[in-house]
Amino acid sequence: MDEVAVRRSAEIYPWLHGRWEHLTRLHKQQRLPHALMLNGPVGIGKRDFAQALSRYLLCQRPGDDAACGTCRSCVLFDSGGHPDLFQLSPEEAGKAIKVQQVRDLTGFLHSTAQQGGYRVVILEPAEAMNASSANALLKTLEEPGRDTILLLVTHRLGQVMPTIRSRCQRVDCHLPDPDMAQAWLSAQLNIDPDKAQQLLSICLGSPLRAREYIEQDLMALRRKFIEGLADILKQRRSALEVAQQLAKEDLELLLGWLYGWLLDIVRVLGTGDESCLRHLDANNMLRAVSRKADAQTVYALSDLVHTERVSLMQRLNPNRQLLLERILLSWSALVR
Ligand SMILES: [Zn+2]
Repeated sequence: MDEVAVRRSAEIYPWLHGRWEHLTRLHKQQRLPHALMLNGPVGIGKRDFAQALSRYLLCQRPGDDAACGTCRSCVLFDSGGHPDLFQLSPEEAGKAIKVQQVRDLTGFLHSTAQQGGYRVVILEPAEAMNASSANALLKTLEEPGRDTILLLVTHRLGQVMPTIRSRCQRVDCHLPDPDMAQAWLSAQLNIDPDKAQQLLSICLGSPLRAREYIEQDLMALRRKFIEGLADILKQRRSALEVAQQLAKEDLELLLGWLYGWLLDIVRVLGTGDESCLRHLDANNMLRAVSRKADAQTVYALSDLVHTERVSLMQRLNPNRQLLLERILLSWSALVR
């Protein structure tokens, strides 16, 4: 792990302090459940929270509510190689967690903790388990063995098998309130509060996503997408050309944006009030569409975008370019 990753992995974001205090208190009272399901929307720091909690549980000289950062266990943890920490994620992003991976976990849990303390498992995302890997995990969840904690992380609780859900204690994590998010983001990125506010509105209130947008330059992709959509409307490029240009990008992200914009248009059509447009960077285009399109067609397209986005999330592996083409063709038909 690089230095930034280590620093961040130990970070408890201010909006999760309450959860942190609750769990560390349970731990001190020896009442921490052996399986926790950290649940909440994308981009609020659940993974970092799971990392920090693991580090704390594995620490040999923990303070009142934080790992010491200097013991052998903390050093091992920060180097990314703690032998009593098992991290389980899909081998390839977007794919399922395989049953063999769960069997490897079972093997790990049957061995003795090397540092003599806890053994901690982070499984993320929990919704990536298919029926067979979930079944393979059930027994472990029921009897994980002494001094073992499993931390499951999900932002799609509805897609986690009920048998898994019912065996974990849920820890619900929420978005920070807007003022806290704005203050945090503008301090983190050293930007003025108005800019932070704009970014947060694009990222549906998620401060970590907003930070990522800047760090990974996702705003450039977003601009490219907006340009593509505007070009289609003005018949400067065809839907096919724009689909070709964008098919290899993160389609789930693109469709998420498009869905948000369509909802904005629906709102304007419903109320006649253009101030309903919340996405300042796409405002001109959205205003133009809302003046020409009819509600029925916009509804139909937003349904289509939603359905295709869910199929992407469920990894049904559709033909990406065709999928995008179909959506962009319907987009071009909005203003005819
Ligand atoms: Zn320590």
